Amino acid sequence: MAIAAGFAWLTFPPPRFVLSPSFPDGTIPGVLHVHSTRSDGRGTVDDIARAAAGAGLKFVVVTDHGDGTRAPDPPSYRDGVLCLDAVEISTAGGHYIALGMPKAPYPLGGEARDVVEDVKRLGGFGIAAHPDSPKAELSWREWSAPFDAIEFVNLDTSWRQQIAPAFQNRVTLPTRILARRMLSYPFRPAESIASLIQPTRILDQWADLASRRRVVIIGGADAHAQIGLKLADSAETGRPSIPIPTYDSSFRTMSVRVQPERALTGDAVSDATLVLAAIRAGHLYTALDGVAGPPVFELTATNSAGTAREGDQLPTGGPVTLRVRSNAPPAFSTAIWNGAALLSGDHHERDVSVTAPSGAGVYRVEIRSTGQTPSVPWVTSNPIYVGMRESLPVAARRPPSQRQPLLGAPARTMWHVEQDATSLAAMDLIAAANPANGTVSSQARLRFGLSTGAPLGQYAALVVNLMSGLALSDRITFTVRAEQPMRISVQLRSDRDRWHRSVYVDTVDQERTVYFDDVRPAAGAGSDKPPRAEIRSILFVVDAVNTKPGTSGRVWITEPTLER
Ligand SMILES: [Zn+2]
Ligand SMILES: [Zn+2]
Repeated sequence: MAIAAGFAWLTFPPPRFVLSPSFPDGTIPGVLHVHSTRSDGRGTVDDIARAAAGAGLKFVVVTDHGDGTRAPDPPSYRDGVLCLDAVEISTAGGHYIALGMPKAPYPLGGEARDVVEDVKRLGGFGIAAHPDSPKAELSWREWSAPFDAIEFVNLDTSWRQQIAPAFQNRVTLPTRILARRMLSYPFRPAESIASLIQPTRILDQWADLASRRRVVIIGGADAHAQIGLKLADSAETGRPSIPIPTYDSSFRTMSVRVQPERALTGDAVSDATLVLAAIRAGHLYTALDGVAGPPVFELTATNSAGTAREGDQLPTGGPVTLRVRSNAPPAFSTAIWNGAALLSGDHHERDVSVTAPSGAGVYRVEIRSTGQTPSVPWVTSNPIYVGMRESLPVAARRPPSQRQPLLGAPARTMWHVEQDATSLAAMDLIAAANPANGTVSSQARLRFGLSTGAPLGQYAALVVNLMSGLALSDRITFTVRAEQPMRISVQLRSDRDRWHRSVYVDTVDQERTVYFDDVRPAAGAGSDKPPRAEIRSILFVVDAVNTKPGTSGRVWITEPTLER
């Protein structure tokens, strides 16, 4: 037994290097992605703040699961730690963390691309969470959506990937690494969690995006202070759990070091503004304090156009000098990357300068630990974008050449309403005069009342039956408004299946176009793309995905028109 214990000690992850800050880098340490008792975490926000203070952190971003309709708590200082309230939203394309957002006017959910759009409209900053989660439905999959940041490492995912399966599957013979880490966790918790971080391809996927647009790189703790024995990253109560890793050990494992524009003052509201602005700007790096700490780090890029720091942009202007300063232990290895390509690696000095050729580049730095296998990324910087021409992927669409109205005199279409057994729907077809220009337009008005209770498929819909499918058109265009901001789902229905695309509806008239090659199958639909000739009706649906049960109101659809 003593021999076995002695052997286990030899296989422990190395104790963390204790470093002295060699220069002030102007950053403050904090942690993002923390769950409290408000969702599936073990502790209150006070417990979390206390653990953060103990770990030397200055701010915490609490991200309980939700749909954005709970008004966020105002920023506060607890135990000297700035506590920010944010939300982790479940979408059909994975989890999305939204910071700096007011209470949403309707439940955020449904397709990931729509939640990204809603968070942006509400002024929030969104982080695509744990793209490497072993649970497919939790991992971020909507890579073409214009999200603001990507969680390149998630401690909870690392932990679950390697430790939790043994508990969940009642494995009787744990793997060697599991045995080692469970033995070492009580003695070196932060080192043990840090050592579980595995290489992923997330930063390669990030590099592909970053060649076209800014995407902030950020580490998430995803701290719950417990693991449910039936794995579920959603609000569930009453299931058995084990209370590790603790908040304290998670917070000592990894920190996000943000560089505010000026020193914090102790006023929670103005300090929150500074911290959020720094996160939005990518003025931050992520450090594994469980490997070495406290870190200091600085990356700058200089060319004839000037000097830029992490997260910022620089116009092209001849060769670029990249300078990295840190207090890395000599054995650690500093590498400078241009996107997914290594520009220069294996540096062991604390002050490294490398020249990159002129032209565009996206430069970031990774300092890896050595002396343990696999090595782990001790410091991961944000990039400096040199000569970037930002291009959001906007599909070029040609203007329509043919139009077929679905409402009004020339239209020979049949309109009606549909609803579930408990909700109400009524329709008025009206000719609306526009006094501004003397025109009259055809309008369909939906009056709806979704029944109260839990979301159980409540819906109310305006439906137009088609005479001859959609083979002769490629889109539907309409003008829409509602009494309150909402999201409605435009659906194409065949005899068997449905395809949908949701659109935001404001309180003032706005035009919307839904392209039929951009709709996605509803659950159970047989094919990815709708068989246009077989579409029998188009529905404008208010449903419990984005409307709270018990809500009633009116939606006006003006001049719905098929086009090609
Ligand atoms: Zn999650
Ligand atoms: Zn989470």
